[in-house]
Amino acid sequence: MKVAFFSTKPYDKTYFNAHNKNQSIVYFETRLNKTTCNLASGFDAVCVFVNDMLDREVIELLHQHGIKLIALRCAGFNNVDLEAAREYGLQVSRVPAYSPEAVAEHALALILTLNRKTHKAYNRVKECNFSLNNLVGFNVYKKTVGVIGTGKIGQAFCRIMKALGCEVIAFDPYPSQDLKEFGISYVDLDHLLQKSDIISLHCPLTEQTKHIINENSLKQLKPNCMLINTSRGALIDTEAVIQGLKEKQVGYLGIDVYEQEEKLFFEDLSEHIIDDDLILRLIGFPNVLITSHQAFLTEEALHEISKSVLNDIRQFEETQELINPVNT
Ligand code: NAD
Repeated sequence: MKVAFFSTKPYDKTYFNAHNKNQSIVYFETRLNKTTCNLASGFDAVCVFVNDMLDREVIELLHQHGIKLIALRCAGFNNVDLEAAREYGLQVSRVPAYSPEAVAEHALALILTLNRKTHKAYNRVKECNFSLNNLVGFNVYKKTVGVIGTGKIGQAFCRIMKALGCEVIAFDPYPSQDLKEFGISYVDLDHLLQKSDIISLHCPLTEQTKHIINENSLKQLKPNCMLINTSRGALIDTEAVIQGLKEKQVGYLGIDVYEQEEKLFFEDLSEHIIDDDLILRLIGFPNVLITSHQAFLTEEALHEISKSVLNDIRQFEETQELINPVNT
């Protein structure tokens, strides 16, 4: 198969080249969108990532260029118009579970960094400033942690937080029996918002979950609540959370994803004028920690992602079927 990779970074090439045996891969650094779509001409498949936009127009163009398979090298698929893919006969695959622990552990990293202010301590000590002023944190032990979405990543996260001695409560329309037996209590969303000291989002982005954290839900939080999002940016209404931070309803915000991230993340913009005022406002808060969609970025996850994508491409080549189809 001839496969056009979009949004390629050096680490993608390293891991895909290590596992690729038979596929003819061309790596493009550019994102896939309607203006770059013609690069896919002459290929059989495109391999894309979280911020490649596969809306109806792009899918129609891909179809015209002869593309038959969209292979996502991520778990989420909110950036693909599945209805359009079905109409144009393009199959869609994803990597459903490359390493739930990678993302769950990153959520923990955000929590402990925000709480114990290790990022500030690191910078201080680099300048021989050994003062402890303003570095007071709190014990995570015995705090109530609310988990929204207990699929693969949410479950891994619940187990980590339970091991730290937290009381873990969860909300998911499809509760996990395993987690219940593990001592996690399922509650309704309002209860979770009102009782949690730390809230972590692990549900997918859908029409139902878009802005699940909004002006109204923020009003229900315990004062000084810590909010963590490693799932998808649009789960949080950014303007509302900025207001929540100003009013000290949100005590800490740790995000690996951001609603308007397509124009920013994965690029070095240090010499550019940023015209996104919301991200600049967020960066300005001392109690906000932002990472640019790196929760997946572990060696283990990158090995699993490349193996899974290449297996699906091979399976498609041999049988026209997929191991990990997205239900179109
Ligand atoms: P999953 O499909 O295993 O689990 C998702 C869970 O969310 C399911 O249990 C589902 O029932 C639940 N859910 C659906 N609608 C809900 C709602 N309205 N309220 C509460 N729960 C709801 O997915 P996963 O592998 O655990 O991944 C979760 C999300 O993490 C993905 O959709 C993706 O957006 C994100 N993700 C981010 C990164 C990163 O690098 N930051 C990496 C991988 C995945």
